[in-house]
Amino acid sequence: GASATRERLAQAEALTAALVPPSRLEARSISAWFGDHLVLQDVSLQMPAGQITALIGPSGCGKSTFLRILNRMHELVPSAALAGEVLLDADDIYDAGHRLVDARKKIGMVFQKPNPFPAMSIYDNVVAGLKLAGVGATRSEKDILVESCLTKAGLWNELKDRLRSPGGGLSGGQQQRLCIARSLAVKPRILLMDEPCSALDPTSTRVIEETMLELAQEVTIVIVTHNMQQAQRVSQQCAFFLASQGQPGHIVEHGDTEAMFGDPIDPRTHDYVNGRF
Ligand code: ADP
Ligand code: MG
Repeated sequence: GASATRERLAQAEALTAALVPPSRLEARSISAWFGDHLVLQDVSLQMPAGQITALIGPSGCGKSTFLRILNRMHELVPSAALAGEVLLDADDIYDAGHRLVDARKKIGMVFQKPNPFPAMSIYDNVVAGLKLAGVGATRSEKDILVESCLTKAGLWNELKDRLRSPGGGLSGGQQQRLCIARSLAVKPRILLMDEPCSALDPTSTRVIEETMLELAQEVTIVIVTHNMQQAQRVSQQCAFFLASQGQPGHIVEHGDTEAMFGDPIDPRTHDYVNGRF
């Protein structure tokens, strides 16, 4: 019957997703400008496949700019300029042959302020993730997709009986998880998260951290966070950004999260991770 078919399709969908290995991302010698203002200088960072990389550092040091460079949002700012390369596995996403829409399909993004389409239903919010990337789907493909993405975002059991209610009626934490579900709709290889929990309460924060840890099996995650406990709870790799005394944003130190927190090389890293900044 219909439910057996549905179950089979859901299993197939889950299987396909699991079979796509996460991608690695690498920034090479990235420099970035807004007009004449150099905000990032010579930033190189490897973000290993299937790991969570945390970007930490004081406000204004270029973390969000760096994240936007990783999914080609930076170029949408009229005054913005860029040098360097971003490799997604073997491909430079800035190569002439690589289209913006390809970057959108492979690299998802979640922002600090949850931004579901408030008047749109929960169901349509998830499907909108496909539309934004220019991907079509049949009705039954959409049904499977919505269930699968909401499950991965830890929302299915909570919301399956009100898929037609507006996304704007959810709590802040649920809205953010809906945004995660929307970003998963195209099965991205990379998920970028810019302070995804800064606007949330501690309980919602922990739920999203658990979701991230599960997602890391199939998608490589890069998260900007000001929460040092969060960086330690979720990330394997960490990069400390700093912009100081006329120096543009750059990476002071990066590496294994445990080492960065337990035994940092640079005294400025030591001060920052211990809250002395
Ligand atoms: P962070 O996320 O670490 O707080 P940002 O990447 O937001 O840092 O900002 C880095 C620098 O770039 C700051 O000096 C900021 O004022 C500047 N900046 C960010 N976005 C823009 C923009 N759209 N136009 C001009 N300057 C910008
Ligand atoms: Mg920022």
